[in-house]
Amino acid sequence: MRCLFCKADSSRSRSVEHIIPESLGNSRHILGRGVVCDGCNNYFAKGVEKPFLESPGVKTLRFEQELLSKKGRVPTISGLLSPGVPVEVTRFPKLELTSVAVPPDAFERVIAQKSGQLLIPTAGPWPTGSVLSRFMAKIALESMAARLETSEGGLDYLCGEAQLDPLRDHARRGTTPIWPVHVRQLYPSDGYIVDASGDRQQIVHESDFLVTAAGEWYFVLALFGTEFAINLSGPDIDGYRRWVLEKPGESVLYSLKNLALHPMPTSA
Ligand SMILES: [Zn+2]
Repeated sequence: MRCLFCKADSSRSRSVEHIIPESLGNSRHILGRGVVCDGCNNYFAKGVEKPFLESPGVKTLRFEQELLSKKGRVPTISGLLSPGVPVEVTRFPKLELTSVAVPPDAFERVIAQKSGQLLIPTAGPWPTGSVLSRFMAKIALESMAARLETSEGGLDYLCGEAQLDPLRDHARRGTTPIWPVHVRQLYPSDGYIVDASGDRQQIVHESDFLVTAAGEWYFVLALFGTEFAINLSGPDIDGYRRWVLEKPGESVLYSLKNLALHPMPTSA
């Protein structure tokens, strides 16, 4: 068995690869042992997923949505306690508790105040540049592997496909410094669908592949309502931009095809 990214023998590798990090609420989409070797698995955790997960916007989202890390914690974010005291805010969802850490030199000032207001960011920008594109390249290839994992020779084909080497190397080694990703908001971060039994289901993540009329392959992923698209064949996003312009309000993703999505965005 060979690793999807470095193509080295991975038959002795023990780790399973989460296609989307556990810290973004994924416990189900996992690749079997050896699809990604231990070395690449470790590298991705530190070199690709961590910069994405620790970016201010994603940290705020994880705080807002109370997404637990591997260690079972919601990330701490920075806030302001009026008037102007910088604080660190931590949530403990199981205890239904929020703690506010005040710097020692501001402690007396805060205590002397009769009332105060805690200001915490509710949204931040998504990562850009190679932090975003390498994260997307990794998930795109792994999502392909997930589809081919059970078919005879499917993973061998994916490893050997030279057309995917630039994408592979971008994810694993950061080669091709600029690989554009198309980003747009499809629905609010707390968007939900109503399932057959009438219960609300939040759409945390969903993904699919799009083949355009020009024969280009795109991987499309939505995380908490924001859609990201990457071209699998090269660092060019013009074909996807054209597709979006030609099909306003459409997406290959399930929830936009599903009329039961609430609440729908009011403007494009
Ligand atoms: Zn590897």
